[in-house]
Amino acid sequence: MKGHIVVAGAGISGAATALMLAERGFAVTVLDRASAGTAVSGASLACLGTHMSSEIEIGQLIWATRRWAEWDARFAGAFHYRRCGQIRFIDHEADIAVAEKWIAFERAAGLAPELLSRERLRAIEPALTGPLVAASWSPSDALVNPFLAVRCLLKAAGTAGARYRGHCPVEAIETAGDRVTGVVTPQGRIAADAVVVAGGPWTAELVAGLGVDLPILPRRAQCLATVRQPPTIRGVVGGCKSDHGGVDAGYTQIQQSEAGQVLFNTVLAGGLSAPGAQHHVPEVDRRFVLDSIATLTRLFPALAGVELLRSWVRYEAVTPDDRFIVGPVGPAGLWVAAGDNGTGFCRAPVIGDVIAAGIAGETCAIDAGPYDPGRFTAEVPA
Ligand SMILES: Cc1cc2nc3c(=O)[nH]c(=O)nc-3n(C[C@H](O)[C@H](O)[C@H](O)COP(=O)(O)OP(=O)(O)OC[C@H]3O[C@@H](n4cnc5c(N)ncnc54)[C@H](O)[C@@H]3O)c2cc1C
Repeated sequence: MKGHIVVAGAGISGAATALMLAERGFAVTVLDRASAGTAVSGASLACLGTHMSSEIEIGQLIWATRRWAEWDARFAGAFHYRRCGQIRFIDHEADIAVAEKWIAFERAAGLAPELLSRERLRAIEPALTGPLVAASWSPSDALVNPFLAVRCLLKAAGTAGARYRGHCPVEAIETAGDRVTGVVTPQGRIAADAVVVAGGPWTAELVAGLGVDLPILPRRAQCLATVRQPPTIRGVVGGCKSDHGGVDAGYTQIQQSEAGQVLFNTVLAGGLSAPGAQHHVPEVDRRFVLDSIATLTRLFPALAGVELLRSWVRYEAVTPDDRFIVGPVGPAGLWVAAGDNGTGFCRAPVIGDVIAAGIAGETCAIDAGPYDPGRFTAEVPA
């Protein structure tokens, strides 16, 4: 055995990291303060998308989406992977040029997005009949069931020898000299050669005890679900990236679950919450509900009058440059895998591989540069 690693946090980042560590021959213990997947991961819409996501991370996104497809084949459909494609609707003439830029960039990277004609749009998403200026299409984007995905990866990690303990918060990380030696939990101390903190918006608080200052803040992420509908929406529908105000400058995601519920959200202004907000989960706010319903029924008039079933709020972990912080920080043996910025489900295989390769001392197959903690922790010369 190569050594014992404690992973604090059993969201999708922690689950993927645990699997990749266990498969490299490490003894792994995954601890969660609550239950696996019950923070933002299980509440996710879990689109695995490369379209209009990040220019800097396009190589990592392509790698991640391929790895998800491989996991789907390997785990025989255990997390309901569906390669349904993604549409981005365009509300302003000026944004056609924005979409064209993304399309050219992604095509140069080997992907196949396109700007849709009205006929193609009608063929791909027939119920999307609301007024639009144009729409783009990324055929390779996919969906998974988020809870099943977390459970599947944790189970596979378990098969590779990892142990999981829920309702076991890491209260402190212990050190001796300048090395991590273990963690303290209400159920006792656990010795470890390394500790990976994959604690979403709780990460900064946990590592602060070791004098590590990470700029991770919570951001409220909300969603609505309708009662079951007949099959209406085939893929993922979101707004084009735009500089205009309103719906298309914020964030919209609409999709239909396999069970028939339409899942949707529209966030006009993605404001951060105060540090510590993640400890108390509020109800969704009224403005969000009204904006989300307005976007859904404008795009899909056939859903006007549909009944809502439920709503939920969770907290994403936001960094100043919208990218994860993944790698070693502070004392030797302390690793961080957090800062999902609302798009961490897709990136989880990358996060897991960067951490596991780093702890194993291997050269990582993926460029981990965009996630380097040093961009925030390096000391500024006086
Ligand atoms: C409505 C919605 C839609 C989304 N849509 C998408 C999408 O389409 N595509 C996409 O890629 N992403 C999407 N996301 C974002 C995505 O879900 C997150 O980026 C991702 O799940 C983050 O995973 P994580 O493991 O880093 O964090 P989390 O899921 O927050 O996991 C952190 C875990 O750490 C545990 N923890 C915290 N502190 C401790 C401690 N001290 N000890 C032990 N355990 C601890 C927590 O209990 C939690 O389980 C969406 C999110 C929401 C809410």
